[in-house]
Amino acid sequence: MCSKVTNGISSELLDFYRGEVLNGILYAQSDYDFKGAFFIETLDIEVDTTDDDLEKIERAIDFLYARKIDKEKAVLSDDLQLCIEFYYKYMQSRNHELAHLYQVISLPYFQFYWFYRTELIRLEAAVMLKHFENGGNYIFGKHEYLLDIVDSGEFSEFSSSINECLSINECLSNLRAYLDDFHKSDKGFSLHDLIEGMAHVISLFLSDTPDVDYLGIEVGEKYTVAFDYFNSKFSDANLELRWKQLLFLYYCYFSFQTYPNNGFESNKPVDMFIFLCEKIDSHIEVLKNNKRKYSSKPGHDLNPAIDTEGLSHANKEQRSSILSFFDLIDVIEAEAREKFEFSESLDHPKIRSLLSWSEQGGILWENKYTLANMLIFPSNYQWIESLYEYLMREKGDENAHSNEVEFYNFIMQCRKLINPMEDAYCCSVHHYTSKSSVILNCATRGGLSYFLKGLTERNSIDLFLYE
Ligand SMILES: [Zn+2]
Ligand SMILES: [Zn+2]
Repeated sequence: MCSKVTNGISSELLDFYRGEVLNGILYAQSDYDFKGAFFIETLDIEVDTTDDDLEKIERAIDFLYARKIDKEKAVLSDDLQLCIEFYYKYMQSRNHELAHLYQVISLPYFQFYWFYRTELIRLEAAVMLKHFENGGNYIFGKHEYLLDIVDSGEFSEFSSSINECLSINECLSNLRAYLDDFHKSDKGFSLHDLIEGMAHVISLFLSDTPDVDYLGIEVGEKYTVAFDYFNSKFSDANLELRWKQLLFLYYCYFSFQTYPNNGFESNKPVDMFIFLCEKIDSHIEVLKNNKRKYSSKPGHDLNPAIDTEGLSHANKEQRSSILSFFDLIDVIEAEAREKFEFSESLDHPKIRSLLSWSEQGGILWENKYTLANMLIFPSNYQWIESLYEYLMREKGDENAHSNEVEFYNFIMQCRKLINPMEDAYCCSVHHYTSKSSVILNCATRGGLSYFLKGLTERNSIDLFLYE
């Protein structure tokens, strides 16, 4: 149950909240074509495209498909070549955002980050709606954040209509533990760099473009700086890029098995990653020894976790590399566990339902070998895509996920409405606007004002006032 919070909310935590609340988006930005975003609270993805973009993408897909059917007949023009590059850029953007979804589903660090961010929305919703129920309102210029009323003396009671949520102080101090050192890069790269670096490399695999990073879909150092750090630790440069990237991803994977708590040790994933990078040479040694073993004994016992269908298409050389890498995963895990204790996964109905839906389709997201199977055997890359499609289908189902997502979206727009730095989404007619008067006077069905009135039975012009 919610603990009762009066005006005793820590002002230090409220300052943190004001700095971070609007910051729940992970981006993949292209230099000129696409901007993709992953909204961690709603697990939703957006990739900006125009009709013209979609036409180019369709042309590329048609061509690639035709070429698959008949190599001779598919003639590549300069124009088509541009469409194909464009298509790969689009896929890299989209798959980058899907990689963030994978992180939330599979890794304790992200599960808890997601949880505290959705808890914060629930708390903001409870505070705002209770305030309205008590006859209160927000004043532009005076209040810039939904929780601003909590310490201003205008809000004296918080008894949530939402059961089982955290107290504001608990939620904010946990979120702060996550974000305090988020951008701190005194070790050469930050936690944020590690998160983005992992998503970036996954996206290269999922788009079947591991060797064409030159497409430059993601501008900015934050997508490559962690990989560059890792790469600088090799004394033997003879490992193929694909295997380097896989090794990098497994260092990330085991780094995010830990999460910060109590505001201390908040850079655990970064420390774990650095620790594993110091072991690169010994890991390469393990790979080489394993490879020799598998080359001389091709009928060696198979790791039951390996996708056998995928493996059946590999040649002898590839097969021994794959088997060697799967064995290395166990070695990395054992060493990582000695460095830091792994966190338990988050036991939450939403995460549980996504995991069990996937499990019915044979995908065990929390299994440590799943990432390797998915990336080594690219025909399986639909896995994250299908999970996302499932999420979106649920969104369309009024009895399921939908209301929750719509509600979170609604609260996020209220956050923006009150904040002078943000544009909020009004409705299908007015779209995003910085003009609060447009939103407050809008009567469009399904719009922000319409939603506000439905929830509070008051007109939005009485809820948000001008000074
Ligand atoms: Zn990202
Ligand atoms: Zn409108």
